[in-house]
Amino acid sequence: MGKKWGHYKAGGRSQPVKCIYCGRLVPRIKATVVRRGFRVDSKIPGIDRRRVFLPSHKAYACISCAKHRGLL
Ligand SMILES: [Zn+2]
Repeated sequence: MGKKWGHYKAGGRSQPVKCIYCGRLVPRIKATVVRRGFRVDSKIPGIDRRRVFLPSHKAYACISCAKHRGLL
């Protein structure tokens, strides 16, 4: 008993996310959320902006890219 203590499986709940800028896989806690799609709704006339918000437009950027692009 207690022999498996400390044996953490990598990526149990926190799955790595892909940085949209450099393509690197980073842990989600080390990535920052980037909202994409705010350009798209301006291209669609007659659609309410608030209704266009989709969670699928969420993207992630690693910290170094986020810093580089002034997202942090
Ligand atoms: Zn990156």
